[in-house]
Amino acid sequence: MVIGSPVNHSLSPQLHNTAYEALSIDEQYIYVACEVAKPDLATYISGIRTMQHICSISCTIPHKESVMQYLDEIDPVAQKIGAVNTIIRTSQASSTHSYLKGYNTDWLGILAPLKKRVPLTDKKITIIGAGGAARAAIYGLLIEQASVTVVNRTLDKAKVLAQEFGCNTAALDHKAAFDSADIIINTTPAGMHPNEMISPIPKEYIHAGQLVFDIVYTPFNTMLLRDAHEQGADVIHGHEMLLQQAAAQLTLYTGKAAPLEAMERVLLQLVDSGGSTLSV
Ligand code: NAP
Repeated sequence: MVIGSPVNHSLSPQLHNTAYEALSIDEQYIYVACEVAKPDLATYISGIRTMQHICSISCTIPHKESVMQYLDEIDPVAQKIGAVNTIIRTSQASSTHSYLKGYNTDWLGILAPLKKRVPLTDKKITIIGAGGAARAAIYGLLIEQASVTVVNRTLDKAKVLAQEFGCNTAALDHKAAFDSADIIINTTPAGMHPNEMISPIPKEYIHAGQLVFDIVYTPFNTMLLRDAHEQGADVIHGHEMLLQQAAAQLTLYTGKAAPLEAMERVLLQLVDSGGSTLSV
C-alpha cells in the first residue's frame, strides 16, 4: 500500500499491480492507496503493526520524513538522506511486536536513468533544489564520485546541504554553475502542472552536449526539457525516476527483479493521459 495525503491520484497502485501481474504473483500481492492525513500518521502506523497481512508500505508526501520516528529501524542510507519512502515488515526473534524497517529508494530512481546513459565518475553535475529529492540525488551522485554543485532559490538552504554532504554550492542565477555542468538535474516542482510555462532556469543556461534530467513528470515534456531539447541537449524525463524507485521498492517487497518493460508501458500510458493531479 501507499500512504500519503493527497493520495487518491497516485500512480503507484497501477504501477505495482501491473508488475505483480507480469510476475504472476497477483494472487499473493495487491497494492492499494490509503489516504492518511498528517495528524493520523502515528495512529495509522500503530494500527498497521496489528495487520499482519500488510507486508510493506510506500510512503509519499507529506510523510517521508515524519514517519521515521514511528519505525523500529531505519536503513543507514535512508538515515543519511533523511527520508523514508519504503517500509518493510520483518520478523525479529527478539521483538514482541511487528518490526518495521524504513528504506529510501528515491536515490536509486535518480541514479539508474543516469547510469544507463553515462558513467558518472568525475562528471560535473548541477542539482537545482535543496529539498528531499535533492538530498537523495546528492547522496547517490557522491557515491558515484561525481562532482556535485547544488543551486537553490534559497541559497542558505543549499549551503547547509553542501556543508552536510561535502559538495559545492552556487546561486540559482549563477550561469557559470550551469555552463560548466555535464549534467543538470531539476529536483524542484518548478514547471509541474499547473505551472507548465515555468522553468527553474533560463533556456540560455543550457547548451548542446549536456544531459538534462527533470524529475517532474507532469507534464511529460516540461518547459525545462523542451528548452533543453531546443538547445541541443539530451534529456531524461521524470517518469524514469518514478519507474526506477518503484522497481527498487518492488524488489524490497517481493525479493524479485522488477518487470521494467511492463511497468514502463503502463506508466507512460498514465503519464500521457493523466496530466493534472498525478502523484507517486
Ligand atoms: P521539497 O523538499 O519541498 O523541496 C523543494 C525544493 O524546490 C526547494 O529547494 C525549493 O526551494 C525549490 N523550489 C520550489 N519551488 C520552486 C520554484 N518555483 N523555483 C525554484 N525553486 C523552487 O520537495 P521534494 O520532496 O524535494 O520534491 C521536489 C519535486 O520532485 C516535486 O515536484 C516532486 O513531485 C518531485 N519528485 C519526483 C519524483 C519522481 O519519482 N519523479 C520523486 C520524488 C519527488 P526553496 O528552498 O527556496 O523553497
